[in-house]
Amino acid sequence: MTALGLKEVLQGEYGFQAPEIKKLVGYANTNYLVVNKTHRFIFKTYQYTKPLWDILTAENTVLLHLAKTNTGDYPVPIPLLDSNYLKVVVIDGKKNIIRLLSFLEGTFVGDVTIAKTIAKSIGTFLGKMDIQLEKFDDYVLKARTWEWDLQHFHLNKKFLPFIENRRNRSLVHYFFQQYEIHVAPFLPVLRKQVIHNDANEWNLLLKGARVSGIIDFGDLTYAPLVNEVAIAMTYIAYDKDKPLVWACSVLQGYHDSVPLKEDEIALLYYLIAARLCTSVCNAAYAKRMHPENSYVAVSEENAWAMLYRWIKLNPVMVNQEFRSTVGSKNQKKGTTDDLLKRRQKHLSSILSVSYMKPIPMSGSAFQYMYDQEGNTFLDAYNNIPHVGHCHPKVVAAAQKQMSVLNTNTRYLYDLLPEYAEKLLSKFPKSLNKVFFVNSGSAASDLAIRMAKAHTKKEKICVVEHGYHGNTQISIDISDYKFNSAKGQGQKDYIIKTKLPDTFRGAYTGSGAGAHYADDLKSLIAKNTEQIAAFIAEPIVGCGGQIPLAPDYLKKVYPMIREQGGICISDEVQTGFGRLGDHFWGFEMHGVIPDMVILGKPMGNGHPIGAVVTTDEIAASFEKGVEFFSSFGGNPVSCAVGLSVLEVIAEEGLQQNAKAVGDYYKEMLTALQKKHKTIGDVRGSGLFLGIDIVHAGTTNTHHKLAQYLKNGLRQRHILISTDGPDDSVLKTKPPLCFTKTDAEQVVEALDKLLSEYTG
Ligand code: PMP
Repeated sequence: MTALGLKEVLQGEYGFQAPEIKKLVGYANTNYLVVNKTHRFIFKTYQYTKPLWDILTAENTVLLHLAKTNTGDYPVPIPLLDSNYLKVVVIDGKKNIIRLLSFLEGTFVGDVTIAKTIAKSIGTFLGKMDIQLEKFDDYVLKARTWEWDLQHFHLNKKFLPFIENRRNRSLVHYFFQQYEIHVAPFLPVLRKQVIHNDANEWNLLLKGARVSGIIDFGDLTYAPLVNEVAIAMTYIAYDKDKPLVWACSVLQGYHDSVPLKEDEIALLYYLIAARLCTSVCNAAYAKRMHPENSYVAVSEENAWAMLYRWIKLNPVMVNQEFRSTVGSKNQKKGTTDDLLKRRQKHLSSILSVSYMKPIPMSGSAFQYMYDQEGNTFLDAYNNIPHVGHCHPKVVAAAQKQMSVLNTNTRYLYDLLPEYAEKLLSKFPKSLNKVFFVNSGSAASDLAIRMAKAHTKKEKICVVEHGYHGNTQISIDISDYKFNSAKGQGQKDYIIKTKLPDTFRGAYTGSGAGAHYADDLKSLIAKNTEQIAAFIAEPIVGCGGQIPLAPDYLKKVYPMIREQGGICISDEVQTGFGRLGDHFWGFEMHGVIPDMVILGKPMGNGHPIGAVVTTDEIAASFEKGVEFFSSFGGNPVSCAVGLSVLEVIAEEGLQQNAKAVGDYYKEMLTALQKKHKTIGDVRGSGLFLGIDIVHAGTTNTHHKLAQYLKNGLRQRHILISTDGPDDSVLKTKPPLCFTKTDAEQVVEALDKLLSEYTG
């Protein structure tokens, strides 16, 4: 609108004489500051629509209601000459709604560095306003349904595809799912009323250290009361390093005016996350639609920063903080001892528990795990949640398919061939048949049966310290088990060969692989019977993260094949891009196996395993009895498996494993120079081992390794130990692990190693 046109409207409709006019920035409408001789006003114009007219009418009614007791805290609607508060006028040929409000003096909270006392008074101020609004009723506001109302958070889901960075998108998706679980079920029973619904730093005004007013009632809605404070908490906290402390100050002030109930407090962690997600979703959409408009993305950066801080906070701890802020007692949880006792009542103590001080877990997200006491652990250990704990895409795939169809492979459904095709596309052409089962153990078991069926031989050649699972056959082929102190010993059909370890083994340096292969050759020569299969992991996990010596498999595979056996690669630990340079571990050794065993990461925690093999071997197996697995290859597992492959690709997780893994290994290698008790740093991508030794020797140092593992646990970092003397630190985190996470682990290790006195 031209300045002249504006003046004409102000004179004609409100009776102004020569007002001064200044255009202001607005989110969705145009605002002007209007100054006449005595007063300042805000003049607002909006493109006319009937629904907007109704909302603005409601907004004016609310402001007039507040004006009854208003002492200058809220804008007051100013009537037109015709006594109405809204009017449609034609400006530049278009129908516009016009309205005038009193101007509130003050400084925006966003323009100053505030103290905690101000944060608290924001809460008190909002509480007082909400008391005034408590009995106010309006059917238009009750019917209002749009994206900026947290009770309709799900409406923002449609904006997810506009978030370009896939890991950012997953974070937001995660909070959508958490909202569904933790908030949505309570929506029907929460107390509701009209609330301002947008107490951000650009709507709140200060005079000195006092909150003097709130403007912009454009987001008014009838909603759960707790949303009011949740939103204010979000905006006070989102640009601060310690968001929780600031959020608590607002909460305290609000609770002093309007005491909140425990079930409302319990939602705050998720409501705050939901508000941040609403902000980034709308910003992503607006950026795509209006790349030229920077106003809409104003709070986006802060919101992202806080989302990444928020996910590091254990919801249990946040809830405890909120509860103590309002003076509620925190519920007493059972002690770890109680939990252990309860577990051991009906579960065997043969199931071990990690750490001297076991961890009672309550939740997890991406590379974090949350315990029941409120601590957040950085997970530098668990490789089963390959693409991240509770990854929303995997969760969504499982939830959806569980609700539609879950059956067995005796019926036809598309997901089975679809997943098989996608999975096999990751393998060399010769590996073109897949058998789905539910664990790595079941896969090992089946692999050995198939090898025997194909070769008509019985002997299985295994590598020292190898582990392949918990069934009878898998134990038989796992030196790690049968040869342990309580193991049942080596069965007659097993041939065990040396672990081709270049750090502590019989051969080191270049040529070690060939020497180890020669040893196996002599073993084969001594053996009267031929070998059906040779099985090995590309990097032996339980043996202490030991990569098979270079060239070893290149020499061994032809030897095994020549005498009529097949070669099996156990990729349960090393598969699916973890190694960074390669999607499968066998690729790092430049060989193609005849059979591959899959498990752990395949379903990100959903139990799936598989044997992948050649047409020929499958054909031999088909001559025997039918193979059936009740759960193997069911539609839910296939949907989950597909989603895992998709996330790996979408989020560039193999590349991340390479970039972060290289950086991590470099830092650990540098640490090795400082601490002579680190004997070796080995592995690839995000599958690393740190061999702890007596300084300057290759002698294992069990005690120090255990001290480090438990010390890291006390510092809220999860890592484990393995190897024959349990003296190798194993780190194999979810692939969303970052360089900052790696730094955190290395710094903690450095401190512990420096502190250790023996
Ligand atoms: N193979 C390897 C290399 C493993 O590490 C494991 C499990 N640790 C298995 C097989 C057995 O897998 P699951 O526990 O799923 O049966």
